[in-house]
Formats: sequence, C-alpha cells, structure tokens
Amino acid sequence: MALNESDREWLLRAAELAARGWGRVHPNPMVGCILTRDGNLVGEGWHEEYGGPHAEVNAIRSAGDAARGATAYVSLEPCSHHGKTPPCSEVLLEAGVTRVVFGAADPGQETGGGGELLAQAGVEVVGPGPDVGTFQDVDPVFFYTSRYARPYLALKLAVSLDGRIAARPGERTLLTGDEANREVHRLRSGFDAVMVGGETARVDDPVLTVRHGWDPRVPPTRIVLDPSAALSPDAALFGTESDAPVLIFATEAARSERVDALREVGAQVEIVPQAEPSPHADPAPRPEPTPKGDTAVKEDPGPKVKGGANLETVLERCWGLGLRSVFCEGGGRLATALSREGLARRFYLFQAPVTLGSQGVPAFPGGDATPEGLGWSSRGEPVRFGPDLLLTYDRKI
Ligand SMILES: [Zn+2]
Repeated sequence: MALNESDREWLLRAAELAARGWGRVHPNPMVGCILTRDGNLVGEGWHEEYGGPHAEVNAIRSAGDAARGATAYVSLEPCSHHGKTPPCSEVLLEAGVTRVVFGAADPGQETGGGGELLAQAGVEVVGPGPDVGTFQDVDPVFFYTSRYARPYLALKLAVSLDGRIAARPGERTLLTGDEANREVHRLRSGFDAVMVGGETARVDDPVLTVRHGWDPRVPPTRIVLDPSAALSPDAALFGTESDAPVLIFATEAARSERVDALREVGAQVEIVPQAEPSPHADPAPRPEPTPKGDTAVKEDPGPKVKGGANLETVLERCWGLGLRSVFCEGGGRLATALSREGLARRFYLFQAPVTLGSQGVPAFPGGDATPEGLGWSSRGEPVRFGPDLLLTYDRKI
C-alpha cells in the first residue's frame, strides 16, 4: 500500500523529531518516531542519547496503552538487531502496533530488515517512502558513511556580500553576528572533528571547541592542516582546559623539531604526503607587510613548504582514526581545494551584510569562482540568523 498525504505529513514530523538527536547519538543514526491512532497523535519519541533507547521505544513509552492498534511513523526503518537494546521491530510487535510507515530503509548489514520482519509477523508495513532522499537527509553523515569508507566532510565559510572572508590577508575579520555564531557551534557539535587550514589557525588563533551552550556527547577533535608544522606551541588551541584532542596533519617537509614541539604541547601529529601540484593551484596570497605600530611578535613559520597536505590521504587517515565526519571551517584556499577535489559533501555559507572591498581576501581564490562554479547545488532558500544569511549547498551523494 502506498504512502498517502497524511502518512507523509506524519513522517516529516518524525524526521523533525529525529534532528533533536544532533550531537548526542552519532555514530548511531538520528531517528524520530510518531504513533497515531485514528489520525490523532498518541505518542512520540526520538533517539536522544547514544546507547539509550531508540526512537520507537521512547514513542511507545510516551503512548502507554494507546500504542495498541496504533500506526508508527519512523524516519528510518525499525532495526532488527539485538544490540545495546532489543530490536525495535520486536518492541513494536509487543506493543501491539498494527501499521508501520518508515521513511528510509536501514542500510546496515546487521540492523536492516526490520520492515520485512514486521511484515512477516502480520503488521502492515509501508516504506521506504518514494522521496527517500528527504529521510536520508535527516542524517546525511549516517547514510554517507554506511556507503563509503570515508568521512562525510562539510565546509563552512563566512563571507561578505562581495564574497570575501577577511578584510586583508593575515587579518582576522569577524563577519557574522551572535545568532550565526551560535549556529556554527551547534553545527560543530554534530561532527566528530572540526578542521581548519594552517593559515587560518595562525591568523585567527581559534580554540575550535563547542561553546554557546551546546553540549556534544563527544567533543569534536580539533584538526589543523599544517604542512610545515608552523603552528606555534603557544596557540590558543593548546592553552584550553578542553579535553577535545588536537590533531595536526603535517607533511614530510616539516622540520622534525617543529613536529616535536607540537607533540610536546599535547598534539597528535600525523605526517602525510604532500599534494601533487594541481592545475588549479593558486599562488599563496602575498602577506601584507605588518602595519606600523603592530608590536605583536610573529612566530617564525619555518621554511615555506610548497604544496599542502594530500587531502585525500588526510581524510583516509581521519577515517582510520575513527573520525566519520569533519566540519572544515576554512580558510578559502582549503575550502576551494576540497571542493575542486570533490571531497566535500555539504557547504554551509554564512553571508554577512558587509562589504570588504577589493583589498579583501576572496573566499574562492583563483578568479571568479562561485559555489555553483565549484560544483555545489543549492539546497533551497537561505535561512536568516540575525542580520546574516545561511546558504546551504550539497553535492549529490
Ligand atoms: Zn531500533
């Protein structure tokens, strides 16, 4: 039996509930479940915590006796696997649910097949939905990593109206307001790692932890791509009380004493090959001379390394270290390279209502590249955060 219009609406509500698990359940999937009887809501739940009850169990608990004879709407096919908790397909049967409608099929080798199991037991099962992408999109990291042995990589950049990320090379420029910044921290909380390029790490000296009140179950690992291991051991990354690990990717060209210095302050340093010179490679922006009166002592970055780290190897190494999702926050050259090499799946572009002018650093160096020109397709209308806009782009999985 096909999905009717009201089935679809309930399923979309289940998908909204699923999203509440952001930052708390991965690498498990985020799942939401709604129970209805005679078209009325009688229970709802979502997977709230890794290792805790699944969405279906929480929904059944909230419904009590009303679960008997109910229809269950689940954003993902109920599991059939005896893991930390009994399989949801059995729980639904025991509760007396008579109809199950699910959005996306469970891609797991062990966990999948719950729909079939329920159907064999006499439950009417409808799913996966015709627009399965909508329900996979509830948790793109889960679906991507169940298909590919590579981290799901998302990019984030904040740009001015004229597409610039900083007022001048080497100058830290805060573009977005509190609401957008809070959203960035929320996004961070759902990833296994937060990554920046070495230049961004030196100019912005970020801490890269999750703040603004968000509470990830596992604090994301903080990654810096630093080919020549030029990062200062005094960088803010190392000065925090945070227990989020720091992981640095340097290349064979980095001086060993610099690598040692970073290890001494607690970083894990991985050595990866240098990138092959790419036809798209852009010359590094020439740093502006230090303005007069600026007394800040700049750390000697050591010898300039040609070419950055091999990005594909970086991601393979991340996967090997158990990092299934990476949130890359710039800079522009790294974001552009990851886009051009087809390694990034999603792009969060925050646009601030300011203009930085021709002295500014372009978000996409190398001519007049745009997100679309780099292969991104828009996911729909921009979302407003205070004065700023968030435009989101995807690549087809
Ligand atoms: Zn389950």
